[in-house]
Amino acid sequence: MNTLYCLSLGETKRNEFIEEAQQYAYGEALFVVPGNYFRQLVKKQGTVRTVIMDYLPNEILRLNAKEKVYQRISRPAQEMLLKNIMQEMLETGKLTYFEPLALRDGFVKNLAAFIGELSRSGVAPEELSRAFAAWDNRPVRLQEKDKELTDLYSTYRERLQTRNLYDVDGLYRLAINMLETGTKSLPWKTLYFSEFYQFDDLQRDLLRALSKYCHIKIGIFYDGQRPELSKATLNAYGDLAGMNFQLVKEPAVVKRRASLSFLVDNWQKMGHKKIKPQNISLLEAASPENEMAGVITSIKNLLATGVNPQNIVVLVRSLADYAGFSDLFHVYGVPTSLPQVTSFSGQALPDFLVKLLKTAVNISNVENWQNLLATEFAGTLFHIDREKLEEAYNTKFFSTENSLLSFLKTNFPQADIEEILAVVKDLGKKQTGNEFVKKISDALEQWNISGLAGKAYQENSLKLAQIKILAGCENFCQKILQDMELAFAQSGNDTTKISVEEFLAICLDMSKDATITLQKGNPKGIQVLEVANVQALTFTHVFLMGLREGVFPKIKFENWLYNDKERAVLHDLDINLQQTSANVATDRYFFGTALAMATEELHISYYADDTAGPSGYIEELGQYFQPDTWHAAKFSVSKANCAAKEELLKILAQAPEPGKRETQWLENEVGTDFSLKKTVDRKRWLLDSPYNGKIGGKEEIPSLSASSLDLYVECPFKYLVSKEWKTAIWEPLTEEIKPTVSGDLYHLTLARFLGKHLQEDLSTLDKKALTKELLTDFQKEYTSLVQKGLIAETPLGLQEKKFYWSVLVKWLEVEIGYQSDETVKLLPSQLEIGFGLANSKWPALKLTFDNKVTAFSGQIDRIDTDGKNYIITDYKSGSFPSGTDIVSGKALQLPLYVLALENLCHINKDNIWGAGYYALQESKRKSGMWNKEKEEALPWLSSGRSKSFGEVMEKAMANIAIIVQSIRKGSFPANPWKKCPAYCPGYDICRYRLNTVLNLSEEGENNE
Ligand code: SF4
Repeated sequence: MNTLYCLSLGETKRNEFIEEAQQYAYGEALFVVPGNYFRQLVKKQGTVRTVIMDYLPNEILRLNAKEKVYQRISRPAQEMLLKNIMQEMLETGKLTYFEPLALRDGFVKNLAAFIGELSRSGVAPEELSRAFAAWDNRPVRLQEKDKELTDLYSTYRERLQTRNLYDVDGLYRLAINMLETGTKSLPWKTLYFSEFYQFDDLQRDLLRALSKYCHIKIGIFYDGQRPELSKATLNAYGDLAGMNFQLVKEPAVVKRRASLSFLVDNWQKMGHKKIKPQNISLLEAASPENEMAGVITSIKNLLATGVNPQNIVVLVRSLADYAGFSDLFHVYGVPTSLPQVTSFSGQALPDFLVKLLKTAVNISNVENWQNLLATEFAGTLFHIDREKLEEAYNTKFFSTENSLLSFLKTNFPQADIEEILAVVKDLGKKQTGNEFVKKISDALEQWNISGLAGKAYQENSLKLAQIKILAGCENFCQKILQDMELAFAQSGNDTTKISVEEFLAICLDMSKDATITLQKGNPKGIQVLEVANVQALTFTHVFLMGLREGVFPKIKFENWLYNDKERAVLHDLDINLQQTSANVATDRYFFGTALAMATEELHISYYADDTAGPSGYIEELGQYFQPDTWHAAKFSVSKANCAAKEELLKILAQAPEPGKRETQWLENEVGTDFSLKKTVDRKRWLLDSPYNGKIGGKEEIPSLSASSLDLYVECPFKYLVSKEWKTAIWEPLTEEIKPTVSGDLYHLTLARFLGKHLQEDLSTLDKKALTKELLTDFQKEYTSLVQKGLIAETPLGLQEKKFYWSVLVKWLEVEIGYQSDETVKLLPSQLEIGFGLANSKWPALKLTFDNKVTAFSGQIDRIDTDGKNYIITDYKSGSFPSGTDIVSGKALQLPLYVLALENLCHINKDNIWGAGYYALQESKRKSGMWNKEKEEALPWLSSGRSKSFGEVMEKAMANIAIIVQSIRKGSFPANPWKKCPAYCPGYDICRYRLNTVLNLSEEGENNE
């Protein structure tokens, strides 16, 4: 007689079943459980043979010597098969509704899942077709969808049959068919099914078929008085009752503390009294990290009181909601059954392989090559000096892969460029999937990765933990390759040639969420389990986490292929597919079973933030407790509650004033300079602190350039980092021409051109001929910069070239105009004149401050003269100092040039009429410092708002003196004159960084 034991919430027949099963000779009883957790548990408890439900069909087939007639199809092969079918349907015009989606990976996955659902529900293609045909008032467009879906499904099933392949559902059907003939033999007298809450249609059919051969005993929760809670198990109960199982109501036996017992007995029942939530606690955290920390802290405290870790369990709805949980257990020194894992795709070996394949996909993409050559494995396997190569990107731009590879061949003689090129070219060919697999497999073997790792370990450049990860990655790569080979064979794609792009897409898909185990879980540690996988277990202490909106109950989105409305109609047409409402009932059941697992203490927790608050279950629970007795304790890791050394170090390090004992402890743990290091950030704000650029005096300053002066004005700390410490940011050249390069292009072209017309009035010459000449000079300078690798001849570069030329043409036109208007002809006489520079024409400009001499250097773009009077011009291709900058003495370049002209060329200062900027992009002389009385002679002067010459010079001299004195005193405070630039070599160490953090928090407060 088959028996269904109807259990109360949280109860199980497992232990009795095991005891009873052990009375049989080994093999005469079979224990069937839903998943691996229970299989291990039953195995530990007794000698009874135990299988997971989905393995039962295999077992039946195996026992009847049928194991050779079927082969289980893998999931990737299912998807490949479906893709093939869709491809054929597309080619024959049989796929119109799904045409826009077909072959997209996301769609193929959804389709495979939906077909699995149909299959699992025991729906045959003919039944599906009949149901669709009977669907009244179905719009024509949707009938098209139904037809295509039915065709896909039936072709898929046919293909499996022809290839002698089976999915899990196929195996169920095969086993059911075999049993239904009634002629097969099974060794079992009794089958025990424990810890199930539902059976799908195929499982129910299998149970029915099995019941002809042996006794079946099943324990399942069902409580007619709690219909809401029993919704999850109602189908199973109804089906089994319909199969004439004898129904036996079992008494509850689990002993719990009174409050917990009350909760379990009354959960989801009407008309209950209210109690105090004794032994039931509620914790609210502000982040998942804090929730995890709160739970582990409580567990650590419990362990300290002597509670056995085996009596504690942590329950979550989904482990994916708690990334890094295992690491946190490790940080807190609490053993756990969770393994420590790391993501596969982020590791060096897969990263290298993916970049290798990406390069093969598009061999002429220089960025792909740069990414590949920057990987650790490219460096090790092909002897590429990655640092040197990266440095080269600062001075040379590679617009094509050929220019990059030739550069490597010439400048990196030790690198195996031909070898890596051969590998990439070989992988780039269209070939069968198996050929790809073999090539990568062979390469992995040839590269001898474990040998390399061993060598690196001996040389101390790799740690044991890294070797472990590497070995794990290599094994996983080999496994994926094997799985791919199988999938190609099963889907019939083993002889089909595919592109490397397609192969790469399959690799990425198969390795997407893979992880590498760094350390196995400790079986004696705290168990962390997903509630969906465990019911009817008891622990003295239960930590139920994640009671947050959208997490538990878990949000389930409607299936978009066939939504709930369509599923409801299909249900009436005898096609039973799950609807979203069923998931709600299942979640409610999971929550009830989780509550029932605690016998002494139940700790519930969640995290709440701006996006979601506590789950509806929390409010529901509150209805069981007396008013004002059910509150969440807020938790965040603090000095008072911190139970992990690492965390405590962080907290104390951030504390403004740690106590004496704390400081002592910190110094023991971190080092005696801890207190000093801790105060560094604050010292960055003190004027006299070395951390704010006060590094001590140096009496002599041998030389200073004009640009250094302006840099000091911009920010003294930036000057310190760039000029004294000479650090610079690595800034790879890009397709876009750098401003310094375009500036050079203008300067060099104008110097070349004007160099041939010194003291000539351009307005008297033929403009057309001058333009032609300017073009030739521009071409020469441009080509020279291209040859130096500073300009890339890409489509973008050529566009920019046109723009630069247009600027120069405009300059010529304006320059002719200026010269023609001048009543006193001040014409170019000297160009790009350096002073105080190596090999420069003029010596350094020596100025004395406090009786000490400082030498100044610079380069003047252009000096114009009529033989008696002089003006200075500085070309600017970008921004230039404003009038305010000049008048306040913050722009020191032009005043220094004036001083150089006066002192080094012995020009009377009354004959220097001024100095100014020529804004190339605006095609205009702009700003500067001028003798305003000369407006008549230089009409262009009247249009600008230039600053008074004498006043500016006075202010500038005073500022130059201050700067020299400050540098002598070693004073370089972080004090930007304007906004900090986007890139600054001082950013990481100056106080600006702290300022940014401060500003952000201030903004946050304001917003509130
Ligand atoms: S980031 Fe700003 S404050 Fe810091 S060094 Fe640069 S310019 Fe000065």
